[in-house]
Amino acid sequence: MVNSIYAALPTTVFAEMSGLAAQLGAINLGQGFPDDPGPEAVRAKAADAVLNGHNQYPPMTGLPELRQAVAAHYNATQRLDLDWVGEVTITSGATEALAVSFLGLIEPGDEVIVFQPFYDSYLPVIRRAGGVPKLVTLQPPHWRFDRAMLEAAFSPRTRLVVLNNPMNPTGVVLPDEDLALLAEFCVAHDAVVVCDEVWEKVVFSGARHRPLMSYPGMRERTVKIGSAGKMFGLTGWKVGYLCAAPALTHALTRAHQFLTFTTPPNLQTAVAWGLENAHDWFREMPAGLERSRDRMAEGLRREGFSVLPADGTYFLCLDLTTSGIEEGDRDFCLRAVKEAGVAAIPVSAFYETEPVTSIVRLCFSKADDTLDEGVRRLARARDLSRAATA
Ligand code: PMP
Ligand code: GLN
Repeated sequence: MVNSIYAALPTTVFAEMSGLAAQLGAINLGQGFPDDPGPEAVRAKAADAVLNGHNQYPPMTGLPELRQAVAAHYNATQRLDLDWVGEVTITSGATEALAVSFLGLIEPGDEVIVFQPFYDSYLPVIRRAGGVPKLVTLQPPHWRFDRAMLEAAFSPRTRLVVLNNPMNPTGVVLPDEDLALLAEFCVAHDAVVVCDEVWEKVVFSGARHRPLMSYPGMRERTVKIGSAGKMFGLTGWKVGYLCAAPALTHALTRAHQFLTFTTPPNLQTAVAWGLENAHDWFREMPAGLERSRDRMAEGLRREGFSVLPADGTYFLCLDLTTSGIEEGDRDFCLRAVKEAGVAAIPVSAFYETEPVTSIVRLCFSKADDTLDEGVRRLARARDLSRAATA
């Protein structure tokens, strides 16, 4: 009567934790969204486009002005040479772009390499498309992969690789050597990479985002996915991009036309304007988030917590074991939201096998007072946890 893959799924951990936070009045350091309302000029463009613009179906592949702006932006900031006509498609968020990639590129039985912890929308859609996930398990504190791990994962049946860089939930921004290594394997195995780069703009000093598409042999075999929601801190907007060589884009647009067909035109207009004009935002946004990351990390360390490095995204990972907490991540998060009034995300939710259960993800894209109070409440959760497990 119903599809078994979806019927067996729990509600996402983001909805679960945000639901508990709302119900219990807790501070929400779980689901990743900023307190900052986002660039006013971009929001004003959207409002103006709703009132005075065209509100009927935009073209299926996206407004030309936005596709041009995406190609020009990546040319200016990442030196990519995308042809907006044949290689850029606008989607309803990166979530749709991911689904389009899996449905449009996978043949039943194809092996798909996925690094875990993974963003939670990947596996269900890969499976629904008939793909067979091959998991590569990454471990804290550095979450790196190496040649032996890739050798064990790649096979003659490998069709697709999914890479998230910068990575949610770990905050890792992959160094050049890791990207070069992965590119070498993809070329050798003739695999396509779905590269989820939604966090490309949220990278802090000392780290640099490098698009996988720019590596030797990768131009024709990379689907680059972006999200205006993350670029502008407007996570509810759900405007995403797919950038890929024409042969891949052909299949992607065929899947897109029957998933959502199109994306609200007024938001597309505003995003196009933002990509061309919001230069200050692209400088100030990561700098402000870096200050928030440092404030939260320092607060946590002062309270005796052990925190992992984070070079990008909105997230900082707390190591429970080395913070002297015996409880697993899920139990600790449930205790934190119910007994201490602070919601967080257990990283084990992003593993399918061999879960790492000692890491909790905290969202730091919040006002200073919220961060400070969140840290105090986490310390209270730790004390309650210690008392309960003593
Ligand atoms: N991929 C990753 C790694 C994400 O973190 C997110 C959202 N947090 C998405 C995809 C989805 O992006 P969107 O909201 O544009 O659908
Ligand atoms: N990507 C967001 C996060 O990682 C959540 C998105 C969602 O709720 N589906 O927190």
